[in-house]
Amino acid sequence: MKLVSYLADGTSYVGILGEDGIQRLDTDVSMRDLIASGEIPSASDVTDTLDHVTLLPPLMPEKILAIGRNYVEHARELNNEVPSQPLVFAVMPSAIIGTGDTIEWENDLTEQVDWEGELAVIIGKTARRVSADDALDYVFGYTVANDVSARDLQSSDKQWVRAKGLDTFCPIGPCIVTADDIANPHDLTIVTTVDQVEKQNGSTANMIFKIPFLIEYLSRAFTLNPGDMILTGTPSGVGKAMKPPQFLTTGSVVSIEIDGIGKITNTCQEL
Ligand code: MG
Repeated sequence: MKLVSYLADGTSYVGILGEDGIQRLDTDVSMRDLIASGEIPSASDVTDTLDHVTLLPPLMPEKILAIGRNYVEHARELNNEVPSQPLVFAVMPSAIIGTGDTIEWENDLTEQVDWEGELAVIIGKTARRVSADDALDYVFGYTVANDVSARDLQSSDKQWVRAKGLDTFCPIGPCIVTADDIANPHDLTIVTTVDQVEKQNGSTANMIFKIPFLIEYLSRAFTLNPGDMILTGTPSGVGKAMKPPQFLTTGSVVSIEIDGIGKITNTCQEL
């Protein structure tokens, strides 16, 4: 099932994305509250056509945990060591935007804005000290994310809070695919294009630390709540690794697609 959050006639709804449009769900709660409730409400008899709605970020997470350098080729392309344990950082929830929204930044803050296409895991129920064997029972679903990164701030700040957390730096969407519809989250292809030129084409099969292990690892440190999100790292092909390096600028259009989930597209604007 593909779940979306969207605006129709100025009101926000949650619905099921299908080929003929969006079947509105019979609820007035947010996606996060819906996930926390443990059940998906029945559909109303209203169907909204896609040209009539604005897709919103499918979810506003309370907590976003992210894993750096979780693909060998990506660690190597930036001359970093392959980590022996997950490199964990956090992204500000205020960085979330949806597909179609604008990624923007102040030029005097950063001039090295880069893309990172990633699979995002959405937690479905409270997880604390969960074993890897049980971990997938705690997954509600999956979405597509762009872990937009200000490389100059990432280098100069040491901590990555600003580099990864600037407003608009975490586009997600277009939908959440429920876990029962993803046969194997480690058999998905991530493709990133910038201005329709392919930059990244990787498989989630190549994650160093797989999702069950990450949930075990993270839930030893933090209580994971329904609707919390884990960014699982990016494959190789980021702009900083290009020769010469390439970065996003005003007018750049960056798309990230994961098969079985969908595609997010965002245009960039320097301020
Ligand atoms: Mg990343």
